[in-house]
Amino acid sequence: MKLTGVHFLLTYRCDLECDHCFVWGSPKARGVFTIEQIKDILVEAKKLGTVDSISLEGGEPFLFYPIMVKAVEEAVKLGFSVEVLSNCYWASCPEDAKVWLLPMAKHVELSLSSDLYHGESWQIEEVKNAVKAANELNMKVGILAIKYPKAKAPCPSEIEGAKVGLYDLMYKGRAASELAEEADKKSWREFTECPCEELVDPERIHIGPLGYVHVCQGISIGNAWQKPFSKIISEYDPYENPILEPLVRGGPVALVEKFGLPHDEFYADACHLCYAARCLLRKKYPDVLGPDVMYGQFE
Ligand code: SF4
Repeated sequence: MKLTGVHFLLTYRCDLECDHCFVWGSPKARGVFTIEQIKDILVEAKKLGTVDSISLEGGEPFLFYPIMVKAVEEAVKLGFSVEVLSNCYWASCPEDAKVWLLPMAKHVELSLSSDLYHGESWQIEEVKNAVKAANELNMKVGILAIKYPKAKAPCPSEIEGAKVGLYDLMYKGRAASELAEEADKKSWREFTECPCEELVDPERIHIGPLGYVHVCQGISIGNAWQKPFSKIISEYDPYENPILEPLVRGGPVALVEKFGLPHDEFYADACHLCYAARCLLRKKYPDVLGPDVMYGQFE
C-alpha cells in the first residue's frame, strides 16, 4: 500500500449531531486518543516512508484542544504536513478565534465545515469568524461543504475569501439512516463498484481512538492497539478481507451476493447499499465491521 495520508479521528465526540455525518459524531460518543497513542501512530506512520500528511478530525477535534495541539506539535516534529478539520463551534468572534488558532498557526492548514447540515445557511457565522482569524494569521484555509438536495440558494464559491469545495452527500453512517429515505434512488443492481475509496491501494487511511484502522469508515483492516500500525499497513491485502474482497471485485452488489443478503430494490447510492449490507454482517464480522459507534451504537 502506498499510503500518503493518515487521518486521525481524534474523537467521535462532537458538539453537533448532523444528519449527514457518516461517523455518527455526537455529544454521546466517548473516547479520545491519548498523547502516547498519537505518538505511537505517528512514529509507525513515519516508519512506512510514504506517509507525508496527517489530518486531525473527528467528531470535533477542538473539543480536546490540548491533545489536538500536542498532536500537531508531534506531527510537525516528525516532518508531516498537518490539516485540521473543524465545524468552528469555538469561533465566537474573529479576535477569540485568533487565540484558538495561534498555537498552531504556523503549521496547520484548516479545513472548515460550512453547509446546510451544520447550520441555517451555507455561510455559518462561526466559520466566517474562523476564516477571518486564519487570514490574519496567514494560515491556509479551505471550506468543505456537502451538497444539500433541497437547498433554496446555491452554495457560494468562497467564504471570506476562502475557497469552498462542494462534495456529494454519501449515504453511509447517519446519512443512510436519516437522509436516504428522502433521496432519489436507483436499482441496487447499478452499484457494482465503490465510487469513493481506492480500496485496492489506498492512499489514505483513518484511525480512531479505539485503534480500528479503516479503509472506509466502519471497514477495519486491523486494530493498532493489538498489532503495530506499520505492520497492519504493510500486510494489507483486500482480497484476504471478507468484506473488502467482494467490494473490490464488484462493489456493494458483490457484497450482497456473496452473502446472499436480503435487500430492497432501490438505494440512494453505492454507499447506502454497502452500509445496509454491512449492518447485516456485523455480528458475523465484528472485528472488521466496527467499532460500534460507526454503526450508531454509543454504549
Ligand atoms: S461503497 Fe462502501 S466502501 Fe465504498 S465508499 Fe461507499 S461505503 Fe465506503
